[in-house]
Amino acid sequence: MTDIEPLAQAIVRGERRALARAITLVESRRADHRTAATALLERLAPTAPHALRIGLSGTPGVGKSTFIEAFGMMLCEKGLRVAVLAVDPSSARSGGSILGDKTRMEQLSRHPNAFIRPSPSQSELGGVARRTREAVSLCEAAGFDVVLIETVGVGQSETMVADMADLFVLLLAPAGGDELQGVKRGIMESADIILINKADGELRATAKRTCADYAGALRLLRKRVQDPEGYPLAMMVSAYEGTGLPEAWEKMQALAKWRRDTGHHDKQRQAQALHWFHEDVRQGLLAHLRADPAMSNAMARLDQQVASGARPPSAAAQEILAGLIATKSG
Ligand code: GDP
Repeated sequence: MTDIEPLAQAIVRGERRALARAITLVESRRADHRTAATALLERLAPTAPHALRIGLSGTPGVGKSTFIEAFGMMLCEKGLRVAVLAVDPSSARSGGSILGDKTRMEQLSRHPNAFIRPSPSQSELGGVARRTREAVSLCEAAGFDVVLIETVGVGQSETMVADMADLFVLLLAPAGGDELQGVKRGIMESADIILINKADGELRATAKRTCADYAGALRLLRKRVQDPEGYPLAMMVSAYEGTGLPEAWEKMQALAKWRRDTGHHDKQRQAQALHWFHEDVRQGLLAHLRADPAMSNAMARLDQQVASGARPPSAAAQEILAGLIATKSG
């Protein structure tokens, strides 16, 4: 096994090349890399400082990269160290990645305080989740103050990012009132801050209306225990002009501070850690089942029986679990 200690120490010193190498290690599927990655995380995670983890989601074209460039630069100029990670479920299909385009975040990528990492191409969301989560931990160990986790607004990736972030920010574009329906309720419910981007020039008036619509919609949502007065909230920004960015940062910091002071931050991190622990066990068991020919045949046979209604789901599950326990003890 590779000795992970020198790498661990280089990460703690904040060396970006070491961090990049470590992220490559956690992204690898090779068994020996996996062992080294786990050892590295066990060595680093317990003592790593907490960064502010910000999940950022929005549909393609809403201005995510423009926003991250401007927002990230603003934070870097304040002396903060900013890491940007991306989760792009579509990269599994296309083999590309949302941060793969070299022209994205050109200024930020050159800033000495910034670290930008494109999305790994992975086949399943479960794998993407684990790798992203581990990359976040590594960035924290490297002493980054803010970790931005970007995702495109499709399907489950948003829930996944919300489940690993301290704050979840939803970026929207100015649009007619009926667009409100387009945002899934679950995503609205996990948003702490909704930013209506492109509030500039001709779009400003529309942005104002959209912002008021969302502010109204947020007020109708059930109040969550982790929210102080006035949150979740909607506000306008222009990534182009930089307007609203200092205010957005202020609101994020105020929320993060409130949650730290009231214990909600720790509670949320604990709940997330347990969620991912259980999720990994579930994923691991499924992978184990699929890798065993007899078990995967049994799964396929039971799939059919359950689908046709011949067996109830619970009976089929019991058969699989009994088989699994028998394999283990046999
Ligand atoms: P992404 O796909 O969400 O990463 O979006 P981009 O950052 O690539 O931006 C999509 C388009 O919106 C580009 O043409 C940007 O120039 C434009 N855009 C981004 N931010 C703003 C903004 O604040 N105001 C205006 N007017 N356009 C913007």
